Amino acid sequence: MLENFLPPYQAHVTECLLDAGLVMVGKLNMDEFAMGSSTENSAFYPTRNPWDLDRVPGGSSGGSAAAVGANECIYALGSDTGGSIRQPAALCGVVGFKPTYGRVSRFGLVAFASSLDQIGPLTKDVTDCALVMNVIAGHDSRDSTSAPLDVPDYTQSLIPDLKGSRIGVPQEYFVEGMDDGVRASIEAAVNKLEELGAEVDREVSLPSTGYALACYYIIAPSEAMANLARYDGVKYGYSDRRGDTMWQNMELTRQHGFGDEVKRRIMLGTYALSAGYYDAYYLKAQKVRTLIRREFDAAFQKCDALVTAVSPTPAFKLGEKTADPLQMYLSDVCTIPVNIAGIPAISVPCGFADGLPVGLHIMAKPFDEPTILRVAYAYEQATEWHKARPNL
Ligand code: GLN
Repeated sequence: MLENFLPPYQAHVTECLLDAGLVMVGKLNMDEFAMGSSTENSAFYPTRNPWDLDRVPGGSSGGSAAAVGANECIYALGSDTGGSIRQPAALCGVVGFKPTYGRVSRFGLVAFASSLDQIGPLTKDVTDCALVMNVIAGHDSRDSTSAPLDVPDYTQSLIPDLKGSRIGVPQEYFVEGMDDGVRASIEAAVNKLEELGAEVDREVSLPSTGYALACYYIIAPSEAMANLARYDGVKYGYSDRRGDTMWQNMELTRQHGFGDEVKRRIMLGTYALSAGYYDAYYLKAQKVRTLIRREFDAAFQKCDALVTAVSPTPAFKLGEKTADPLQMYLSDVCTIPVNIAGIPAISVPCGFADGLPVGLHIMAKPFDEPTILRVAYAYEQATEWHKARPNL
């Protein structure tokens, strides 16, 4: 739909980075409209995982994660609506950070699901993550959801010990079908955090976790179908004018301009919002969303941070999940609750399963990015995982 489209203005984050001296190397591949977990829904071509070229880099910001992982650039940006920064970062062995909803302005970001979308960095280590966050975070009146809060200096959080911090491990995130190597890496990482001085509670429970994915697949497609209504071939983007009437041209434009997954989301969202179904689906999903948020609030009364896996499995093979959208959706079971609750979370390299990178997921309460960076930095400095690079 947006092939050859040249944006007439800069996004807020790009403006901030250009002001700070950014040297732009290029734009990266991703799933079409950020819908996907493998970059195989790209409108152009799939991206491969630098650790194993037969495997996916994750998605939707797969190009960003692969480029940073393969040392093609120092850092990249991505957007995260349900895991699209953290999951590819985990699968490519780099750091990926989704800030609190409202922490980074989305002005200039192509909207997917406006109550969930957030921009963040993909970097080689936690220090670079803090440096990029210092530049892109902060209030911007052009995004009405941008939080009018001061930005701390995130490099102040780079402290190499965890004395006095309370870390919880929510049991519900050890999901059925989780890879043994991933589980072992996460358990070893939790022990490491304890060694570094954290007080660890392994019995934390977030009982509504299992409903987050279903809730997401009502809310995200509903918002996407509204956001994507603007691609009608009239003002910009792909335009198919072979029809006899304006309506026919709009239909042709959307039929040929959107890929299959995007059309699937538009249909799901249109159905969920249609008269007679709104209360059963959308309204109920919003109520479940509130419950999930409250459970996180309660957990953060007792814990400063929660740690889980980012992805239940390491990078899967290209083509392995393309035939079954539900299997693809399940890749995000651990990352989606974070977007539903609007909280911040990071993925940091924490080991390998069958030679493929594993990511440790660290979450904290809204606007407590400093705690996440502190835990991530202490863990990173005490381990060597972030120094591993694929043999290319
Ligand atoms: N994989 C999820 C989806 O397809 C999340 C994508 C994202 O965070 N942009 O919707």
